[in-house]
This record gives sequence, C-alpha cells and structure tokens, in this order.
Amino acid sequence: MPDIFGRDSEFSKQELPDVLRGILSLSHQEVEDWCQENGEKRFRADQIRRWLFENRAQSFDEMLDLPVAFRQALRSSFSLFTSQVVTHQIASDLTEKLLLKMVGGDTVECVLMREPDRRTVCISTQVGCAMGCVFCASGMLGLKRNLEREEILEQILRLDRLLDDDERITNVVVMGIGEPLQNLPILLPVLDDVTDANGLGLSPRRITLSTVGLPAKIRELAAVGKPYNLAVSLHAATDQLRNELVPVNDKIGIEAILEATDEYFATSGRRVTFEYVLLGGLNDQPQHAHQLAGLLRSRNAHVNLIPMNRVETLEFDEPSQSRTAEFVEILETSGVAATVRKRKGADIDAACGQLRLKDAVGEQTSSGGASTCE
Ligand code: SAH
Repeated sequence: MPDIFGRDSEFSKQELPDVLRGILSLSHQEVEDWCQENGEKRFRADQIRRWLFENRAQSFDEMLDLPVAFRQALRSSFSLFTSQVVTHQIASDLTEKLLLKMVGGDTVECVLMREPDRRTVCISTQVGCAMGCVFCASGMLGLKRNLEREEILEQILRLDRLLDDDERITNVVVMGIGEPLQNLPILLPVLDDVTDANGLGLSPRRITLSTVGLPAKIRELAAVGKPYNLAVSLHAATDQLRNELVPVNDKIGIEAILEATDEYFATSGRRVTFEYVLLGGLNDQPQHAHQLAGLLRSRNAHVNLIPMNRVETLEFDEPSQSRTAEFVEILETSGVAATVRKRKGADIDAACGQLRLKDAVGEQTSSGGASTCE
C-alpha cells in the first residue's frame, strides 16, 4: 500500500515478479489476430480496445461484454499493465506525477497537469537521455534505452485512470524524459493510438513533441503528414552559447535546425514553438533576447520561456522576475510572440527527471522542482 505521500516504498525495494507480456505491446491488428487464433471474432479486439482506452478498465475481469472463457484466456496470456507505480505524488495545484517501474526495473516519470479547460499529460520516451543538456536532470545518468510501445502507452493510460469520470485527457506533450525524435518508430504508432477514434480520439493538434532539434528527424516527422505541434529546445541564439548549454549542438548548429523547422512549418502548417530555458546570469540578458529576436523575427514562431527549475546538485539559478519580464518585452517589441511557462506541481518533484534521479541514488525526500511541461 502507498504511504500518505503516495510512495509505495516497500514495492520499490523488492524485485519485480514475472510479468506476462502487456496487451498494450500489441497493435490493434495484432490483438485482432490473437482473438482469431483463440477462437473468437476479430471484433472482440474493438471491445478490448474500448475497455482499455475509453472505459479505463483496471483488469480483464471488468470486460463484461466478453465471454467468460475468453476473459480467462486474456488473463492468462497478458498483463493489462506491465509497469508498477512506485511513487504517486499530488501537488497542491492538483498536478500529479507517477514514477513507474518497468519490467526489468527501469523507471520513468509521467505527469498529469490540470488547468481549467485542459487535462494535459506529459510523457517520457526513453530511459534516461543522451543529449546531455547541462541544466537537465533527465540526462544526468545518460541514456539506457528507448521505451517500448506499451511502456509509453501505459504512462498515458495510467494517468488517464487518475482522472474523475467526467474528465478526459485533452492534450499530450512528449516532453518528459528522453529525446522523442530518437524513438520515432515506437512513438508514432503510440500517437496513432492517441489520435485514433477508437483510441483516445485526440486531434494531432493537441499533441506536442519537444525535441533538442535533430534536423533529419524533424524532416522525418514532417513527412508523416500529421499536424503535430513541434517544440524545439533552443535555449540560446548563438552556436557558441548553445554548444555550452546543449552539447549536441556542436554537431548540428542552429542554422540547420532553423532550416528544418522552416520546412516543418511549410509542410504541416503548424507554427513551431521554441523553448528557451532562462538560466539566471547565463542566457537571460537583454543582448540574448535581442539575438533571439534576430533569429526568429522573420519566422512564424512562438517562444516559450521556461524559468530554470532548480535541480539539486546543479548550480544553475532561476532568472529574476524582472529579467524574465524584460526578456519577454524585448521579444514582443521585436515582433516575436512569447509566453512564460507556468509552473505546475511546484511542491512535488515534477521537473522531469528529478524523481527518477532521486530513486536511482536512493534518496526519497521531496523538495522543490516544478514541471517543465506545458
Ligand atoms: N529531449 C526533449 C524533451 C526533453 S525535456 C527536448 O530537449 O526538448 C522538455 C523541456 O524541458 C526541454 O526544453 C528541456 O530543455 C527543458 N528542461 C530540462 N531541464 C530543465 C530545467 N531544470 N528547468 C527548466 N527546463 C528544463
């Protein structure tokens, strides 16, 4: 049982039991095939899907419109969820964060954010991250592996099950741990499930992928032809500064990223967002704002300024409020649309990567940190 902070500390210490393969590891067609192989009609797969995506079933036993013997066959062949909730935190603004332990013991984080007209989930795509951005907790332990289809879907569906009956997920942001564009072959079919009428039925316009800026992958995403929102983590307007903050920039360069985002806009019609973490004293001066405006003025772009979330053990500071306000002012008077990201979950470890990091180093105390998700 979780303790009053929602932590299932007993579980986190014990080895995972053997787990059957997750039903969510199968595509819809594979479930149809399985139904047929097990003596049932293919339409049974639609019923199963409705229970998983719409009716928020927690077990196969709840799927009452399936024959009893068939339910039994499902139960002995599959797990509904393969992941386990290690930690469940709820912030005072009702942001909720889960630390999930996957089969094999890897952990990932996902977050549910509530706003008056939105229920947004922020999901992870990799165990760790290879990008090495110097201010980010997610990459501090490096990249272990890509997440599998069911490991990404389970984040979404577990968060969905935290909602009240009359609440629905309205937005998905792929801004958790990892670089989503490095896991596109797995992520894209997952997003198909999110947008599918008999999946979660969300418009692609309500899905945002955040990337460090990998030009070839941005083109690959554009070629998919779906109007997903693209957010690029720019964080600096000169290669010199960006190489320091986002080391992979060394091999890419801002110019190549902007060429790719221009193409993304031309193909998808979606205005690209540029994320810019404000690091006190490092990239938050007026000259930086002017440089950024110079890059983006002629583009149909939007800047999302993210005040640095404190990460224990890292020495970067938050920007002052006056610096942040001045930065916005310079961008806007230069004709570049800018917003400052609202903090969510400030009283839990909602900044992506922090909870997993603490789990990995065996520390369980909760301190500052806020979600970096939209
Ligand atoms: N790999 C993707 C998604 C990762 S995180 C990407 O680079 O976009 C989503 C956003 O949170 C990125 O813009 C990332 O740079 C930012 N971020 C990471 N650590 C942060 C921190 N400590 N404070 C504020 N934003 C942070």
